[in-house]
Amino acid sequence: MSLSLYIHVPFCASRCSYCDFYSTTSPASMRERYVRAVCEEIRMHRNDFPDSSLSTIYFGGGTPSQLQMDELATILQTIRSAYRLQEDVEVTLEANPDDVYPGWVRQLLALGINRVSLGVQSLDDAYLRLINRRHSAAQAQEVVRQLHSEGVPHISIDLIYALPGQSFDHWAQTLEAALRLPIDHLSAYQLTYEPDTLITRQMQAATIPPSPDEEVVRQMYMHLVERTAACGMPQYEISNFARPACHSRHNSVYWTGGPYIGVGPGAHSYDGHNVRRSNAPSLSSYVDHLAPASAAALILPPPFQEEQLDEEALLLEYLFLNLRRVEGINLTTLQLRWPAYIGPTFRHRLQQFLSAGHLYQPHPGTYALMPQGMLISDYIISELAAALAGS
Ligand code: SF4
Repeated sequence: MSLSLYIHVPFCASRCSYCDFYSTTSPASMRERYVRAVCEEIRMHRNDFPDSSLSTIYFGGGTPSQLQMDELATILQTIRSAYRLQEDVEVTLEANPDDVYPGWVRQLLALGINRVSLGVQSLDDAYLRLINRRHSAAQAQEVVRQLHSEGVPHISIDLIYALPGQSFDHWAQTLEAALRLPIDHLSAYQLTYEPDTLITRQMQAATIPPSPDEEVVRQMYMHLVERTAACGMPQYEISNFARPACHSRHNSVYWTGGPYIGVGPGAHSYDGHNVRRSNAPSLSSYVDHLAPASAAALILPPPFQEEQLDEEALLLEYLFLNLRRVEGINLTTLQLRWPAYIGPTFRHRLQQFLSAGHLYQPHPGTYALMPQGMLISDYIISELAAALAGS
């Protein structure tokens, strides 16, 4: 059986103004205990899935490229001694352009990392400064070319659209420049104003330009879907676009309900059936428990929680994850797996979204979101959830 492993690396050199992920700007001195704790947790879970081998390993964050090469090597060595790895294992590292130095790519390849996901976000220096990124547009483009010329097999970049005051033309130019880069995968996210982020406070205080209006955002998204398809990188998930056979195999495990182990503070695990485990998003409690500075710390409670998902929660998750994918949801699967929940009200609501052009049927019995439906996916999913029998 295939298994995936996620390693959450919570370190960031500074905070980007829009970010609400769990990360810390803790000093480098915390990294040594963090690496020990992660290795301990990897070993702890080595027998959770005895008949499996790893098909994907993903270093996410935070900023995994903040780890030194020897720290990455220690973690990868621990993974190799604790698990069987499939021959074609996908090993992804999220990186920021400002962490890349001469020789970095060569060392990365030597460790067996074969996919880099680079946080580019914008190709305009003024926007990069506004969202508090540490790199320039030229630096990001140069790093992508370097990754390519030095032989990284798979390169993905992240972009953000609907930035404060951004026009459609500005986004279209950004996208064209990005699509000229030697990448095989693109993740593009609409800027969201999360609570307790600097950019939300700036927006509320009107110290930054307002967001583009809804119609401009709709045009930006439709343009993204059209241009990526025209450039041979069609959409495969609401925010993800890839050349053939270059989709993120790791993220696809999340979206298709496969089993994965998450290690590191704030990481989540799923057994592929109905049990989810969440590590507390706290670096200090994580290292205190798994790499204690003294024996006294061992009395601390384990820094994770387990939750057993009931049938309704599993159904809602199926709807949420599969409607975000271009494959969509299958009515026969739903009726066979959750017969008590799929009644005439649910089928009627599906038909309504189909008639309104928000859904389409790629195959008989299958319903997928049209690009305009993806823009309002949260609304459609909540309406379908409300139409389940017993809701
Ligand atoms: S580098 Fe990534 S995780 Fe860190 S603050 Fe910026 S967006 Fe958040």
